Amino acid sequence: MPELPEVETVRRKLVPHLAGRTIVRARIDDTRLVRPEPPEAVAARLTGARVTGLGRRGKHLLIGLEDGGTLAVHLRMTGKFLLGDVPADHPHLRAVLELDDATTVAYADQRRFGTWRVLEGEPELQEFLDERLGVEPLDEDFDGRVLAKLFAGRRASIKAMLLDQRLIAGVGNIYADEALWAAKVHPETPAGLVSRPKLDVLAAAIRDVLEVALVAQGSTLRNFQSPDGAYGSMQERFKVFDRTGEPCRRCGTPIVKLRVAGRGTHVCPRCQRRRLG
Ligand SMILES: [Zn+2]
Repeated sequence: MPELPEVETVRRKLVPHLAGRTIVRARIDDTRLVRPEPPEAVAARLTGARVTGLGRRGKHLLIGLEDGGTLAVHLRMTGKFLLGDVPADHPHLRAVLELDDATTVAYADQRRFGTWRVLEGEPELQEFLDERLGVEPLDEDFDGRVLAKLFAGRRASIKAMLLDQRLIAGVGNIYADEALWAAKVHPETPAGLVSRPKLDVLAAAIRDVLEVALVAQGSTLRNFQSPDGAYGSMQERFKVFDRTGEPCRRCGTPIVKLRVAGRGTHVCPRCQRRRLG
């Protein structure tokens, strides 16, 4: 599933193609993409709209429209934008935006969990984001103090807390595992028991793994592909994720896979000691 670095990579690649362009025709082929709105109504809403810019909050891509609306896109598992010529018989094509420079931006989604939602005006957009998303880990003031406030008194595992988008926006299974390994924190540790110095290290580690992944244009495991068809290369730099049985890059101990917060979780049992309250 695309996480913050993958969604940000998509945003950056779409900007030169979409910003400043007018959508001359929108087509939406999948009711699931826009439900509960009818696809024809959303297509009609987008037709004629001029795109002012593209933003991102957490894993949500925000396509700003000159009329005050915002198209909020969540790629979920397999949603992807495609630039250039897309064959009309593409098996997973769900929507197409035709632009005033005669180019098209297409959207494909194999598993069909992705969503498109038009939000009207700033208050509706803010409400939508505030309900779903916590702090941005790449914001300047994201640090151990912020984590300490979020985690105070919480007995849930730190892995579960990191995955909760309402606390920290944009971190998913991959980068949670990578950051916990970097900070030498066991994913099952109750969040409220992680010491303040450790939280400082963890906050820096979260920021680091996301920034390194951004430079690598994200991770491509099974399906992430950016709009120009390029694949990310972060997977070549994983320290623990997807490395079950391989030696820890710090101490050589084989990486083990656990189930934490319902997700496959990769741990070095030597570097990341369990601390259960
Ligand atoms: Zn290790």
